[in-house]
Amino acid sequence: MAVKNDSSTLKVLFVTTELAPFSKVGGLGDVAGSLPKALRQAGVDVRVVTPAWPGVIERAEAAKLKMTTSKSKVYAAYDWRIHSANVIKTEVDKVPTYFLKADDYAGDMYPSQLNFWTASPFAVFCMQALELKNAIDWEPDIYHCHDWTSAFLPCALAWHRYYRQTGQKSIMTLHNVAYQGVFEPYPFLDASGLEPWSFNSSTMEFYGQINLLKGGIVSATAVSTVSPTYANEIQTYESTRELSGILYQQRSKLRGIINGLDVKFWDPAGDKSIPANFSTKDLKGKSVCKKELLRRAGFDDSDDSPVIVCVSRLVEQKGFDMVFNAAGQIAETGAKLLILGSGNDWIENGIIQAQNDYPNNVKLFKGYDEPLSHLLYAGGDIFLMPSVFEPCGLSQMISMRYGTVPVVREVGGLRDTVFDVDRPEGGNGFTFLTCDVDGMMWALRRSIERYRDKQAWTKIMLEGMREDFTWDRSAGLYKEMYEDLMQ
Ligand code: ADP
Repeated sequence: MAVKNDSSTLKVLFVTTELAPFSKVGGLGDVAGSLPKALRQAGVDVRVVTPAWPGVIERAEAAKLKMTTSKSKVYAAYDWRIHSANVIKTEVDKVPTYFLKADDYAGDMYPSQLNFWTASPFAVFCMQALELKNAIDWEPDIYHCHDWTSAFLPCALAWHRYYRQTGQKSIMTLHNVAYQGVFEPYPFLDASGLEPWSFNSSTMEFYGQINLLKGGIVSATAVSTVSPTYANEIQTYESTRELSGILYQQRSKLRGIINGLDVKFWDPAGDKSIPANFSTKDLKGKSVCKKELLRRAGFDDSDDSPVIVCVSRLVEQKGFDMVFNAAGQIAETGAKLLILGSGNDWIENGIIQAQNDYPNNVKLFKGYDEPLSHLLYAGGDIFLMPSVFEPCGLSQMISMRYGTVPVVREVGGLRDTVFDVDRPEGGNGFTFLTCDVDGMMWALRRSIERYRDKQAWTKIMLEGMREDFTWDRSAGLYKEMYEDLMQ
């Protein structure tokens, strides 16, 4: 939808280092790819700026986007030289989008080691985002930043020798507080143009190091995170350790807004990457998907045992040590366990070991594979997500859209979206609280037993499929936050 552009229209620039489907690592990419669309429908003039990491332009070309390179470049003064970037303009689902193409973004998207050199592209990107207004005929009222990778922008608006004079407003959205952008202060402070006094314990200093996320939280005009429960959890030492005190201090400007889904993209009735479509009205296609999934895993496709699926980054946060440690107990129930993901070696190895020990029950699809993820969501019966912490989580919502019943730990956004069916008021999945194999198996066993009662199971599936995961409500809450900021 075209946004009416009069002086009352709010203008917001999304500053993000991930943008689905061009550069997605996790949930942030999904949110950046779908929330702007919903905000435009709510009447906000949202635009997106993102680095053209390797492969991004090629993916945009493959998606047949019409792209034009702006006559003016953007420039940032950093480390005693000028960093310039070409501005490649396009529209993604009617959202004006600007890819910044420069040598600064020619390397890996996220560095495995953070130091002055590997952190520099993120600071340069933020300054180029602040300069974008000079290359396009449009100036935002609010800069909406996401995670530590764009947290330098609010820091610059507060403490940079030049940008702090502009008086512009920013919002910092925390998609995952576990990643903070911590590295040594020398020579960053000098190179970045921040005032030396911006490095103290009430600003961005953190135990002698720079902490970009802390700086962003302290300096942004407002802060949000991606679920109400996570907004509370991050103010506790158990959740965020040393940063929790800062988040508690800043709580008056913190709100929790649950993520929505791109329900058109994640739609079992129209999804082209699954072998058969299905909907609440006709579930038949789901069993075709299950058969295809079993075949892909090398299992007998006529097997009617419950298929437990996981689609995830294999990192500590996601609780996969519980999963591979429970493989024997899962195999005993007769269920199949199919995992798609990649990540830390010790987790991958744990799952591979489980696969070797229980070859008739466990299968790891190693890697990142978008089309295959759709088949897992569509062909599974149970979606297992035993996260240690989970800011919002999208996978549990996607699985519910596809009639795959979630079994989750009651934490963060999982607590705000999945409700145990055995509560007196009923629910849409199975939940557990204690973060150990026994806790997880308690919920998983209940789901496996319930699966055998086809009528009860279909009722739970339909409950999840009918949940409203659109962005409409949350986009309204973001708009409210923007409006509050402009008062
Ligand atoms: P996080 O952002 O912590 O990774 P979320 O649940 O918020 O977790 O979002 C994860 C997103 O990434 C989902 O869209 C999920 O389908 C996708 N995803 C995760 N791992 C893979 C994978 N190996 N292959 C394809 N998609 C994946």
